Amino acid sequence: MAEQYIVVVASVIASLLGFVFLKYNSLVRFWGLTKLRRRSALELPKENSEAVGTTDIIIVGAGVAGAALAYSLGKDGRQVLVIERDLNAPNRIAGESLLPGGYLKLIELGLQDCVDEIDAQRILGYILYKDGKNVPVSFPLEKFQPHVAGRNFHNGRFVQKLRKKAASLHNVNLEQGIATSLLEENGIVKGVHYKNKSGQMLTAYAPLTIVCDGCFSNLRRSLCYPKVDIPSYTVDPSPILFYPISSTEIRCFVNIPSENVPSVSNGEMAYFLKTLVAPKVLPELYNSFILAIEKKNNIRTVAERIDSRTPI
Ligand SMILES: Cc1cc2nc3c(=O)[nH]c(=O)nc-3n(C[C@H](O)[C@H](O)[C@H](O)COP(=O)(O)OP(=O)(O)OC[C@H]3O[C@@H](n4cnc5c(N)ncnc54)[C@H](O)[C@@H]3O)c2cc1C
Repeated sequence: MAEQYIVVVASVIASLLGFVFLKYNSLVRFWGLTKLRRRSALELPKENSEAVGTTDIIIVGAGVAGAALAYSLGKDGRQVLVIERDLNAPNRIAGESLLPGGYLKLIELGLQDCVDEIDAQRILGYILYKDGKNVPVSFPLEKFQPHVAGRNFHNGRFVQKLRKKAASLHNVNLEQGIATSLLEENGIVKGVHYKNKSGQMLTAYAPLTIVCDGCFSNLRRSLCYPKVDIPSYTVDPSPILFYPISSTEIRCFVNIPSENVPSVSNGEMAYFLKTLVAPKVLPELYNSFILAIEKKNNIRTVAERIDSRTPI
């Protein structure tokens, strides 16, 4: 695994923190628990829905959070049911960078092998470029063993490793299904209603249900106030980030501080990238940048957002 630095072309290094995301921006990327009491299922299932056995904990969603949590709770001896909408490898342009602190967390959770054999790239810091000058910013890793560093990878490969690890525990049941609503009685969540892979409506019960269904959550709405925070604004020129996601692919990440995101389908985005962004790109990367823009179906956009974390 090659040791690498993430290249940032920017005047504002908000991206240094890696995962600080701003609600009104859009991104363009291309290329390259304590003991829990067990209880029996006394509640009647929702009409037209069949009850499944009780479990200690239900986790909705097996992304990074849900899968890692399922493994930790399972390792602790809990009976865990994980309901995940799609057990195929996600094809996302998010969650591809793990900072050294995240890697240390993986070690703490016994999940560090989830970055092995996925062609993850070891990251030692950032190199900031501006006006032809560059400054390396290394992660402060001096006190750590050599394997401690950041990692970049394909999000889907990493998530599949986490899921596999969780599912390797006999007391973790990873099931494909879509949670449709929480089962609430007198303000207390007692489980979830979900549709399994065969389209059958089921109800699962547990003393604790944890919703880890990501930023497009349908379930969180009933649990949080719809408050949105805007912690900061990006100014132009916004950062352009280049980082490896495998030994052969580099992701380029352009932050567009605008609500009027150019259309990818009618070619406006390619034009925007070529005329306004390309001139800011390092000369060494310019040709590859243009080639990547010209490659068919190579540009993807994703809106950034910050959801409320204020529980009702
Ligand atoms: C553009 C962008 C770039 C990012 N880059 C990074 C990065 O480099 N590094 C980083 O650490 N973070 C990054 N993030 C943030 C990161 O993506 C999220 O913090 C992380 O994915 C959150 O993990 P999660 O498990 O909570 O949610 P998700 O990863 O979104 O997983 C949610 C899971 O729940 C499932 N699900 C959803 N609804 C249901 C339902 N009703 N029933 C059953 N299953 C359901 C989904 O299929 C999915 O598998 C980025 C975010 C964005 C927007």
